[in-house]
Amino acid sequence: MKKRAIFLDRDGTLNPDKGYIGDPEDMELLPGVGKALKLLQEKDFLLIVITNQSGVGRGYYTQKDVEDVHARLSELLAKEGVKIDRYYYCPHLPEEGCCCRKPSPELVLAGAKFFNVDMSKSFFVGDKTIDVQTGWAAQSRSVWVNTSQYELVKGLEPDFKAQSLNEAAEWILKESNV
Ligand SMILES: [Mg+2]
Ligand SMILES: [Zn+2]
Repeated sequence: MKKRAIFLDRDGTLNPDKGYIGDPEDMELLPGVGKALKLLQEKDFLLIVITNQSGVGRGYYTQKDVEDVHARLSELLAKEGVKIDRYYYCPHLPEEGCCCRKPSPELVLAGAKFFNVDMSKSFFVGDKTIDVQTGWAAQSRSVWVNTSQYELVKGLEPDFKAQSLNEAAEWILKESNV
């Protein structure tokens, strides 16, 4: 049977967006994130992080640093009883024209294939316009969270706008009848 998944942006959605994070010490959760993800995981949604990390391409930090930061994020979430099923990131510069940088759906589709995900029952959650676009490009529904300094481009109407990840999770559960 196909699974449902929540594809999650990282910076500004799970943790404060401080710019380029290359040091695990700089990783911290936004308030309520553990609780919100737990609600979703308890209803058997996979949790898959999809993040653009051009700091690698810019030479600010290495792929190993990104993996260490993700290990720290997993450690913080484990204390809240939450497990991220898989992380995907694009290490490239925007101008490299790679095919994996959001708003490309490529990494989402890679995760969907890996886990046999039903995209029509899945959601993308993020704090930027490109996250909303990525979710739609991958044939899922897109939830925008107002948890960073970023605003949506004018005229873009996500499937839902939430003031917190918890509000996003509650809406997703209601929409999914679980
Ligand atoms: Mg973000
Ligand atoms: Zn890329």
